[in-house]
Amino acid sequence: MIRERLFQDFREMVKIPSPSGHENMINTHIIHRLEALGARVEYDPGEGGPIGSDGGNIYAFFSGDPARKTILLSAHTDTVTPTVSLEPGLSEGKITGDGTHILGADDKAAIAVIFELLRAAREEGFAHPPIEIALSISEETGLLGASLMDITRFSSKEALVLDMSGTEKIGYAAVGARDIIFDITGKASHAGWAIDEGVNAILGAASLIRKMKTGTVDEESVFNIGLIEGGEAVNIVPERTRIRGEIRSFREGKMDVIVRKALEAAKETEKEFPGMAIDVTVKEKYKPYQNDPKSPLIIALQNAGNSLGRPQSLVRCKGGSDANIFNYKGLESVVLSIGMEDVHSSKEYIYLDDMVRLTEFLIVFLKERK
Ligand SMILES: [Zn+2]
Repeated sequence: MIRERLFQDFREMVKIPSPSGHENMINTHIIHRLEALGARVEYDPGEGGPIGSDGGNIYAFFSGDPARKTILLSAHTDTVTPTVSLEPGLSEGKITGDGTHILGADDKAAIAVIFELLRAAREEGFAHPPIEIALSISEETGLLGASLMDITRFSSKEALVLDMSGTEKIGYAAVGARDIIFDITGKASHAGWAIDEGVNAILGAASLIRKMKTGTVDEESVFNIGLIEGGEAVNIVPERTRIRGEIRSFREGKMDVIVRKALEAAKETEKEFPGMAIDVTVKEKYKPYQNDPKSPLIIALQNAGNSLGRPQSLVRCKGGSDANIFNYKGLESVVLSIGMEDVHSSKEYIYLDDMVRLTEFLIVFLKERK
């Protein structure tokens, strides 16, 4: 029964494309479902205007035993592209897309599980705490919806973000990330008759990159140079080159060190190429977080797993999620695996059994939560 309903709910949602910035249609569908299941919903489609979205974040409230600690469940309603209204395949329990577009199990599978939880709570009538639900927009484009979200509307002190690959995993820590951009300005000149009058910005870029430690910087940090652009023609000494990279680390301090070394490398490169100027811009994308692996929330999640004979493993996430934003805003949040695999690709899939198992796990967690 649970299996069929989960699949039907999921199927209905993947029929409605919701690329980041265009979430209003799926949100309208989700809100109808949440209200039909007995939740009270707050929604303003204008909320996402400042981040270029046609929708807003969904704030939903489902009553429970007020003597128990309220819990916030969270997921996001947008997906990466390419998307289309698709009919998911279901073969031997494996749900797949059409091979060309993303399936959108990231993160619609989590929303289907939330629907099933509310339905199970009503049907079975078990005692559970009040449940708050935060469904963000434009997560995939930089956690923009969660950044905008007014979490003071929620009373929960703890949140479960349902948005990680794998199964039976609790993400108790995650990296932070910063973009770093180097704008290298040299001097243009004709490469035929005035090559020595030029200052070659591409050579400056090459020298700068060689001075910096990239790839795995230490056991908690990585630094990737991802984009380079510059030059005009083979017979012109290039005046401008831009390099763009990304730093990720579990520690703010370590990101500071990488940035400082990058600034030093830029200064050295300027000295090496007289007449060259290098501007360095650093943009924070999200902060890292590190929760206590022995916090009451994590112990309770592990206990729920043990009650089912499915021990949960604690992991540190090498990517960001809405949990980064919630933790920064003071709401203790962990990420849970939902079974989705090969996300952000046309090979994305999820096993229906893993959605069932996540639902069962959360039901036990809710029943046990005091
Ligand atoms: Zn996601």
